[in-house]
Amino acid sequence: MLGGTFDPVHLGHLRSAVELREALDLDRVHMIPASTPPLRGEPHVAPAERLALLRLGIGDTPGLTADPRELCRDGPSYSADTLASLRGELGERARLVMALGHDAFRRLADWHEPERLFALAHVVVIDRPGFEAPLPAALKALLAGREVGSPEALMARPAGSLLRLALPSRMVISATEVRRRLAEGRSVRYLLPEAVEARILAHGFYSGS
Ligand code: ATP
Repeated sequence: MLGGTFDPVHLGHLRSAVELREALDLDRVHMIPASTPPLRGEPHVAPAERLALLRLGIGDTPGLTADPRELCRDGPSYSADTLASLRGELGERARLVMALGHDAFRRLADWHEPERLFALAHVVVIDRPGFEAPLPAALKALLAGREVGSPEALMARPAGSLLRLALPSRMVISATEVRRRLAEGRSVRYLLPEAVEARILAHGFYSGS
């Protein structure tokens, strides 16, 4: 699972998903847009449209899926509930991974039911350039004894461990920068898949007008 606001999806998300799948030899990466992210402001574009952009961005990429399950639930999008729903589908023995960038990871101890996240899945932290800040004490306590050093060690069990991954194509791209550029009328070419860029421009999303 790679959850996010995807406001909008960009090549940092998509390339990370492809490389994550390769690095861990995953069957699938479920990219799951949050309808109401609990720890941040209202997204700029409606959930159904963020999902449509994500679908366009994924296109026919093998192993990547735009998964709408959080958009079908009312209320805040808690990752623990999303993982429980995936676990219910895949069974107790499936190896389940929640991947997130280092910026999101730093706030993990503030998430809803953080211990339950580890009961349901492994946590994999993707290195993100520009987000190298140290971890808060509460997070260090939550992680105690969980860290493993390799994908093989992680995949030996269905859930409960932490792995940090430096993926080959670390990308500085952020949705914040994409939105800023669009609001200023500047180019976003090669930051997003072209089909995503075309839809955003056709609808005037993020234009600030
Ligand atoms: P914003 O700038 O609006 O905060 P974002 O670019 O961080 O958005 P999100 O949708 O919030 O995008 O991110 C979803 C997940 O993808 C998070 O775990 C985030 O850390 C991760 N992520 C986003 N961009 C990158 C990137 N360039 N490289 C690796 N991981 C990323």
